[in-house]
Amino acid sequence: MKTIFFTPGPSQLYPTVEKHIRVALKKSVPSMNHRGKDFKALYEELEVRLKTLLFIPNDYSIFFLSSANEAWERIIENCVAKTSFHFVNGAFSNRFYKIACELKKDPVKVEKAWGEEFDYSVKIPKKTELIACTQNETSSGTRIDESIIHKTKKRYPNQLIAVDIVSSAPCTTLDFSLTDCVFFSVQKGFGLPPGLCILVVSPAAMEKSIFLQKKNYDIGSYHNFQTLASYKQKNQTPETPNTLALYLLTQVLSDMQKKCLKKIQEETTQKAKLLYDFFDQHPMYQPFVTSKSIRSETVAVINTPNGSKTLINTLKKSNYIIGAGYGERKEEQVRIANFPAHTLTDIKQLIRIIKKES
Ligand SMILES: *Cc1c(COP(=O)(O)O)cnc(C)c1O
Repeated sequence: MKTIFFTPGPSQLYPTVEKHIRVALKKSVPSMNHRGKDFKALYEELEVRLKTLLFIPNDYSIFFLSSANEAWERIIENCVAKTSFHFVNGAFSNRFYKIACELKKDPVKVEKAWGEEFDYSVKIPKKTELIACTQNETSSGTRIDESIIHKTKKRYPNQLIAVDIVSSAPCTTLDFSLTDCVFFSVQKGFGLPPGLCILVVSPAAMEKSIFLQKKNYDIGSYHNFQTLASYKQKNQTPETPNTLALYLLTQVLSDMQKKCLKKIQEETTQKAKLLYDFFDQHPMYQPFVTSKSIRSETVAVINTPNGSKTLINTLKKSNYIIGAGYGERKEEQVRIANFPAHTLTDIKQLIRIIKKES
């Protein structure tokens, strides 16, 4: 029986990935010269597909980084002289804040307990240069509705806004024109091997990095926004990139375009409803996030009062791999990913096994 990964990343590969890897090897993609014309064509195609699928405005820049961790660091370096403002309600949003501290900035955070909703009417200080939010908090299974992010940007048009969509992409209806730095790594919703992150940067954020560079701030070296942009003009990257990863993402984007993003998003909602309806009725395993409006559709966090190992091992016997709780909650919760690679049948089968065994 085939193993299916419901882990929140790395996760189940998108069903076409195996075929694309085989074709890539046949076409010698991993040996492609990264300064040559085939690479430039690949870069261009990838950019067009990303912009088309996710409705990214044409004047926004798309950069390739190694991870979302890297994106956090690059965004702070290139957009913040001193103060960023962070919405924190889990481990990933807190890590963004911590990175600003490590870079010797002076960040501010509004913190809520894991699984709880923010008060969005909170006043964001005038001195804030960048507002940071995590649309889908993978550690606690909470989400921020896109409309709230849009409203925040409209309330603070002169401040930059960074949005982590690592575990919600491509199932997000974020309006990129109301954002400044948006990023996702590909090992979650895109069902690809880890090690590649896409960063989308607004013209205003590009300008900020020029300003900081002129003022002699340290905006980083080979992956600062300016160096990335100068190579991007030639459809190249400063370093030798992971060409295979870029190729695979291009192919999966093409598959998703054929399927239609709207359909993928509708299926995600439908599968999430099945999962939450099931656990809401379950005598023991209850969803951690009680407020339905902020429950993540792509990562369900479930309390396991009898220890997470029991449920994890039950499913493992059927070759279904789910994630443990994040960090300190490893023993008391499980996390179940609901990404485009997971079919309705997979989710129904997962539910059936839990029903039978518990
Ligand atoms: C997984 C994850 C990250 C970290 O991604 P890396 O590619 O491992 O750096 C950041 N933010 C969120 C919300 C995540 O789910």
